[in-house]
Amino acid sequence: MAKQTLFDTELVKKHDRSGPRYTSYPASPFFAENYPMTSVDDALSGIGDRPMSLYVHLPFCSALCWYCGCHKSITRDRQRIDQYLDDFEHELKIMADHLDRRHVVQQLHWGGGSPSYLDNEQATRCFTLIQDYFDLDLDGEISIEGDPRQLTPDRIEFLKKLGFNRLSLGLQDFDPKVQETINRIQPEEETLALIPAAREVGMKSVSVDLIYGLPHQSKLSFDKTLAAVLRARPDRLSVFNYAHIPSIIKSQRMFNEADLPLAEEKLAIFQSVTETLIATGYRHIGMDHFALQEDELTEALDQGRLQRNFQGYSTNAGLDLLALGVSAISYVQGHYWQNTKALGAYRETVATGELPIVKGLTCTPDDLVRHEVIMTIMCGMGLDYDTIEKNHGVAFTDYFAAEIPKLADFFADELISPRDRGFEVTPAGRFLVRNIARVFDRRLDNSGRNTFSKVI
Ligand code: SF4
Repeated sequence: MAKQTLFDTELVKKHDRSGPRYTSYPASPFFAENYPMTSVDDALSGIGDRPMSLYVHLPFCSALCWYCGCHKSITRDRQRIDQYLDDFEHELKIMADHLDRRHVVQQLHWGGGSPSYLDNEQATRCFTLIQDYFDLDLDGEISIEGDPRQLTPDRIEFLKKLGFNRLSLGLQDFDPKVQETINRIQPEEETLALIPAAREVGMKSVSVDLIYGLPHQSKLSFDKTLAAVLRARPDRLSVFNYAHIPSIIKSQRMFNEADLPLAEEKLAIFQSVTETLIATGYRHIGMDHFALQEDELTEALDQGRLQRNFQGYSTNAGLDLLALGVSAISYVQGHYWQNTKALGAYRETVATGELPIVKGLTCTPDDLVRHEVIMTIMCGMGLDYDTIEKNHGVAFTDYFAAEIPKLADFFADELISPRDRGFEVTPAGRFLVRNIARVFDRRLDNSGRNTFSKVI
């Protein structure tokens, strides 16, 4: 196992530039409208008989958390969920007509919104619909994002019996004042009890999301949240940096900006999180993800099977990702496409028998080389020039003659270290891995556009 290094705040400050999180390359702002259906069909026919990954977006939540930047719809009307499932059934049927065979699904993920807001009957309907159109491998990774306020040990048992074997819980913060300010009250004890309950019914991995940078948070308060979470020892933790963009996310205007922790405090929080997690046996996977040594995400990292997609890091590199539901983004055979974000337009489009795709991008040969370079850095934590040359028929040092000198500063600060015809991202470099990958992002450099976030 590679030695893990503590978070170096000075290096983070020095190298922290805004840039994409590289859940895709090119990043989604570069997708174009009026994406041709012929490109979608070309992509789908290229899957062949290989298994695939399926993402389903379920956008509904019962109440709005003020900080939230997800694509969601707040409703107390459960009939709206039924209606959405009717539309989802249409989309599945239309998609099945575009596919040349029934595909094996090895990874299924329900995200949102709050997928756990579906009641048992609705969840059963949604799960069964998927099985009507795909051969779902129930021994594969079947995961769901859960809102602890909607879960009980009984509900988790129900979800396990339905077929889910991985659970991800949004915890965010246990401090009562923070919870009140973000409009998300969830008591510590009941929330943490869900982790052993999930293990007891056989969930193979339980992951927890935390957010730092929220109003009233401090290193001290966040240390307490983390200590509480660690008593339940989840298999994975994602510790996200809160992005405050009230000009775009209106609910964030509920916050008093003076209550937000300053950048120095946020750095101190993330440094403390990192040190604590590493000291208590977690591995830093990359960016904001940590996992226990025995977790399959760590195994995937060590075996070079880690991949990055719109859900963050996941296992099983190389699977095509088909994504259904509002706002969902697919990546199939070098083609990206995204569904409409509007529930009304989603309904109207599937009712006419069309897929609700509103934009997309077919990677050029240059995009494909850079996609592999960027994803290899993000997931493999290093780069082997020979592999890129072999896979894409380019002479690496010629092709990237403009980019290679830009790595010098990262070498000098030991964020990457040289290896024969390539480099490795050092443990300290993992926190800045997207800044290292950004060197190879030609779309970003050519566009003059950069509305992306920073590490801190
Ligand atoms: S944080 Fe989760 S539960 Fe809260 S509004 Fe956003 S998607 Fe819904």
